[in-house]
Amino acid sequence: MRKPLVVGNWKMHGSRESVTSLLDGLLDGTPGTVDVAVCPVYIHLAQAIEQCANSEIAVGAQDCSQADSGAYTGEVSASMLADIGASCVILGHSERRAYHGESDELVAGKLTAAVTAGLLPIVCVGETREQREAGEAESVVKTQILGALSAQSSLDGLVVAYEPVWAIGTGLTATPEQAQAMHALIRATLDRVAGVDAAATRVLYGGSVKPGNAAELFSQQDIDGALVGGAALEADDFRAIYDAAAS
Ligand code: PEP
Repeated sequence: MRKPLVVGNWKMHGSRESVTSLLDGLLDGTPGTVDVAVCPVYIHLAQAIEQCANSEIAVGAQDCSQADSGAYTGEVSASMLADIGASCVILGHSERRAYHGESDELVAGKLTAAVTAGLLPIVCVGETREQREAGEAESVVKTQILGALSAQSSLDGLVVAYEPVWAIGTGLTATPEQAQAMHALIRATLDRVAGVDAAATRVLYGGSVKPGNAAELFSQQDIDGALVGGAALEADDFRAIYDAAAS
């Protein structure tokens, strides 16, 4: 039985004040049957970790370096994130792949760093609209998974997020059937990777998840929660989504 996980990706949003008030809106209780995490920008991590200290809400980062330390200006390592109390990290988000040229090889390096540091890795995969229209969605997602995961020596607690790029921030959502079909394919692909317990791996859906569509997505057999962007910035919406994962 996989425990649902709902993660808020706050992207490059927020201020010290808005982080405090957003977390205030979430901290008076999460359903114990769902794992909940929020991922603010780096500079708000310490504040969020402190505010969530005695709660069920975990705090993670949106990225990490593949290197542990050294001359990498602007980078933050996985071990530094673990050191300040972060517990998870989003890797290979489509915005990092698109705007920062992240390859599967780089995502693999970041995954090794995250696992070594003891962070829960959330590896994002997903096809663009053009790739889907060309009938390439399945092969793109398989290549991303195998590219990021195959060379790993340990993958304890791995989480995969299927985020069709055409559904991120657009208001378009994969239908529950489309999402389920891809999640089943992802689980079958994970089954081919040494060191991965595919049946135990949580596969999240991401792409315009809202209170109105969450329950139907979560009712699918292979959808184990969500990676939420826009709706994670409104406490009531994010709560409604993780409450839907609990029921
Ligand atoms: C995301 O950025 O991971 C995401 C899914 O965004 P949104 O929910 O806004 O589509």
